[in-house]
Amino acid sequence: MSCSIKKPRGDPIMTATAYPHLLSPLDLGFVSLPNRAMMGSMHTGLEEHPKGLGAMADYFAARARGGTALMVTGGFGVSATGALALGTRTMASEKDMDMHRVVPERVHAAGGRIALQLIHAGRYAYNPKSAAPSAIQAPINPFRPRAMSPEEVEQTIADFAHAAALARQAGYDGVEIMGSEGYLLNQWLAARTNQRDDAWGGDFERRMRLPVAIVRRVRQAVGPDFIVIYRESMLDLVTDGSTGEEIVTLARAIASAGATMINTGIGWHEARVPTIATMVPRAAFAWATARVKAAVDIPVIASNRINVPEVAEDLIAQGMADMVSMARPLLADADWVAKARAGRRAALNVCIACNQACLDHTFSGKLASCLVNPSACREAEFTLTPASQARRVAVVGGGPAGMAAAMVAAERGHQVTLFEAQSALGGQFRLACRVPGKEEYAETPVYYGTRLAELGVEVRLGERADASMLIEAGYDHVILASGVVPRRPDIPGIDHPRVLTYAEVLSGAAPVGVRVAILGGGGIGVDTAHFLAHDPARPSPGLDVASFLAQWGVARDASTPGGLSEAAAPPHSAREIHLLQRSTGKVGARLGKTTAWAHRELLDRLGVQVRSGVQYERIDDAGLHLIHHDQRQCLAVDHIVVCAGQEPLRELAMPLEQAGVAVTRIGGADVAAELDAKRAIEQGWRVAMAL
Ligand code: NAP
Ligand code: SF4
Repeated sequence: MSCSIKKPRGDPIMTATAYPHLLSPLDLGFVSLPNRAMMGSMHTGLEEHPKGLGAMADYFAARARGGTALMVTGGFGVSATGALALGTRTMASEKDMDMHRVVPERVHAAGGRIALQLIHAGRYAYNPKSAAPSAIQAPINPFRPRAMSPEEVEQTIADFAHAAALARQAGYDGVEIMGSEGYLLNQWLAARTNQRDDAWGGDFERRMRLPVAIVRRVRQAVGPDFIVIYRESMLDLVTDGSTGEEIVTLARAIASAGATMINTGIGWHEARVPTIATMVPRAAFAWATARVKAAVDIPVIASNRINVPEVAEDLIAQGMADMVSMARPLLADADWVAKARAGRRAALNVCIACNQACLDHTFSGKLASCLVNPSACREAEFTLTPASQARRVAVVGGGPAGMAAAMVAAERGHQVTLFEAQSALGGQFRLACRVPGKEEYAETPVYYGTRLAELGVEVRLGERADASMLIEAGYDHVILASGVVPRRPDIPGIDHPRVLTYAEVLSGAAPVGVRVAILGGGGIGVDTAHFLAHDPARPSPGLDVASFLAQWGVARDASTPGGLSEAAAPPHSAREIHLLQRSTGKVGARLGKTTAWAHRELLDRLGVQVRSGVQYERIDDAGLHLIHHDQRQCLAVDHIVVCAGQEPLRELAMPLEQAGVAVTRIGGADVAAELDAKRAIEQGWRVAMAL
């Protein structure tokens, strides 16, 4: 069983010369950046920390120490009306400016540079008094904005200039003017949201007057030797959005108005095309950035699903961009640049684009962290200190929980042995990475495998630990991370030969017919539907940009408004698939806040037949008998795949405890219900930190 993502090149003998373009300096005239890696703006919740911006400063300082050339903060409103939500922090006064001083101060002490993102959210502001070009409500906001008066437009220009001057006074190295993702300046450009007929609306020339005027006034306010980035929407992905030609016209005007660099934004927040989720292939939208790069003579920054150095290197080497922006990858690994420079690619904790601990948290009002790196944004809480007494620790199970526990225990000086019954590390991630669009999940076991080797952990693959052996070996502590077994629901006929487990299907162990019923619409049921819908003779849309763009109807030509093709490729499913659940809600109801819609939309595009509120009667030679909407029917399917959750696998616990061995259960072996890797990895860290 293997995943189709390419293995990292050449570790451990790789040298810095593997990424010569990425690691070369970028001369901006008045300042030279040491490399081409920028940490892009992302809200973490630290912006609103009740004790001020010290924690945010520490978070960025860690990324500066890791070698990141330039960082951009989350967006701070240029006014109370423009702030992301009522009462969120702004950069609009001397008091605001004073609070910010600590951020550049600590970043500079760590050897880095940082720009403040200035935002006006327009109709996206969660504020009943929001203001926009026209009084048109956003589909993702309960508040209808009012249309700005010409005086308010002038005031908005002044607000951006004032905020930029304050940023300079606070010690920042630059500002980024937020012009993408459907915020105010993006709204101003698009006929969809700007229906004014005054000097600030009408044709594109007039619609682009506001962003260009803001760049000009910001440059006047900060002087020539201050970084001014304009984040431009390279692709709106909404109807009546800008065309590629208009985007190039704007980029030229922005460059002439005094911007130092142009950064990339892809898709408005209300767009119904995934732009950063794991199902999006790496660098899927770099071609849109390249179109602008070819038209201007200032540096242009590529963004979205650039998570590993080889992809960044290729983009810059091919001349598609001058720099790359990464937010989540630097959340996942603060030492991203340092590891690339040291040729330690396989030791990179790669962002798998799951959104589960970062954006899903942010959009639920929780502090962001990272599924693969629970210390992100909580650096102080997760500091690893040497153990007071080194112990002999056995970790049973090499899934996410076990790998994390073994790594952290070894980091702290314990002598660790990890037992894994399979021939490779990864546990459930080895199944996940076989799902088209989840290939990134192959990266995490590579990272852990590398770190465990570097830390001297004895990894015993293909070895099922038993209680007597563990007792005899005299370990001081056993961490039981033995995972889960698929639940076998109590349905008459469940032992019929046409019934398969999801593990048999995803591992490729069992051939599957063309008509399939999936029992269970949780995360694994949805994944299994995607897996079975995919024709393995075709490239995975998770790896192939052309297939992905066709699947979601994205047009690459420069004349289509919003970049949305009317002639989306017809959905293609390799099988007739029925995805079923007993409960009455939506399938995948517990999937991430920011990605569940895309999974459901894709099931729809693939023609998967989804049913909730189903009662299973029995399984026999005729297929699956069920009741739906009070109607009895038989689905004549070749196979029934059970995705009905899991039960914990922890048979070792009792004999070990009876023998007096200290045992801690983690991950699925602890609680299998609603098991997810975020909980498993964090629990692995916490248990090993307490040893
Ligand atoms: P799950 O989300 O708990 O879903 C289990 C499904 O099985 C439910 O849809 C449930 O639906 C059904 N079920 C439970 N008991 C049953 C029974 N006795 N008979 C028939 N059906 C039964 O579990 P999972 O899909 O195995 O996923 C495990 C964990 O991994 C979850 O926390 C999940 O969120 C996570 N995961 C996340 C992703 C992601 O992309 N974020 C992907 C995969 C997995 P009914 O009771 O309504 O029938
Ligand atoms: Fe990346 Fe997932 Fe971590 Fe977010 S939580 S930074 S998407 S790995």
